[in-house]
Amino acid sequence: MRQETRRCLELDRAHCWHPFTPQDDWCSTDFEPIAIARGQGVWLFDTENRRYFDGNSSIWTNIHGHAHPHITAAIQRQAETICHSSFLGYTHPLAAELAEKLTRLLPGQPMERVFFSDNGSTAIEVALKMALQYRQQTGEPERNGFIAFVNGYHGDTLGAASIGGVSRFFDRFRGPGHPLHQISSIEDLHQLPEEIVRSTAGLVIEPLIQGVNQMRPWPPGTLAELRRWSTANGIHLILDEVMTGFGRTGKMFACQHENVVPDFLCLAKGLTGGYLPLAATLTTQEIYDAFRGPAENAFYYGHSYTANPLGCAAALASLEVFESEKTLEMLQPKLATFSSRLEALGNQSPQIKEIRQVGLIAGIELHSHPTRSGKSVCQLAMKHGLSTRPILDTIVIMPPLCTTESELDFVFEALQSSLNESGH
Ligand SMILES: *Cc1c(COP(=O)(O)O)cnc(C)c1O
Repeated sequence: MRQETRRCLELDRAHCWHPFTPQDDWCSTDFEPIAIARGQGVWLFDTENRRYFDGNSSIWTNIHGHAHPHITAAIQRQAETICHSSFLGYTHPLAAELAEKLTRLLPGQPMERVFFSDNGSTAIEVALKMALQYRQQTGEPERNGFIAFVNGYHGDTLGAASIGGVSRFFDRFRGPGHPLHQISSIEDLHQLPEEIVRSTAGLVIEPLIQGVNQMRPWPPGTLAELRRWSTANGIHLILDEVMTGFGRTGKMFACQHENVVPDFLCLAKGLTGGYLPLAATLTTQEIYDAFRGPAENAFYYGHSYTANPLGCAAALASLEVFESEKTLEMLQPKLATFSSRLEALGNQSPQIKEIRQVGLIAGIELHSHPTRSGKSVCQLAMKHGLSTRPILDTIVIMPPLCTTESELDFVFEALQSSLNESGH
């Protein structure tokens, strides 16, 4: 082991505390964490210079690959100009430019207003707070509840966690907060008592597919029906596209698959191409207008790094790459390859219980088995040069959109070998 690696692991074990991580497992002597040193395209390199395919796009963020010359140049240029200035009391050219570009991503520009924040959780917080304050300022303060889905995931800050439905993460944080009604299906929605419907401000969903819930797609038509129902009942539809946004599902946004326009659209992970933390909550002019008038109507919310210029530079550069590399067009044939590769894998691997896929997002669920769990297969995959993380016994495969067909071959060969070895 190199000196650099040894020092990193020593310091980490002594001082770091990792997200979503039982620290006893992390610090156990038979576990050796991997320290990532650099990235190039779809590849990650560790401090021992071993190479891994970035099979979950660095926790669902990366879009065009690592160290993309166009995005890194934009960040470098901005870093030499100014790294941060306040969006409270000032504006800056990149944020204004980015806001306009984001509103143009949905045809007809139904979402004209952009509120920037720092990450997926804050993009949700913003939507929830706006949805509540909107009601207070439009004569319906009794509408102070939300409807969200069982096993949904919307982030870890306290407000976002309060509408989360993954019980192992969120049950302990359920506080007084705002009334939450959890449903599992459209049928549940239609059966909600009238008094609950009348006291609801917004309905929140991860459109097309739930991510943290082991990559579980919704039945087709779900989103369109939610839109119809929300409109009919005067409820705002809040779409959490933190994972699905920016091409992951095959279209720029998941809502475009069912021609749905929400009232709030929450974006983060892929916004900067996966380079820097930045988020955006888009909403309609009609909602924005309810925050005008007297000063007490303003939306008193913000973060120190709101609309950070480096993040905006990365986001603009990422959108430019979507155009220059025709990312969405190039993606279409790869989606067919991805599907057929998944199907072949399923046919050849008795350990697989179910494969779920939307666009370039796949969840490969294994039959529960003590020694062939998602975790052990992912550990074997690392040895074959494929990096990814399981969710329980589901292996997540979510490659960057720039992945080539031959790189996909590599991914599936590594997966097949790992599954074969885990079978013994
Ligand atoms: C990751 C994620 C979030 C939270 O985003 P963070 O940037 O991690 O705070 C929210 N919603 C969905 C659907 C996500 O996948």
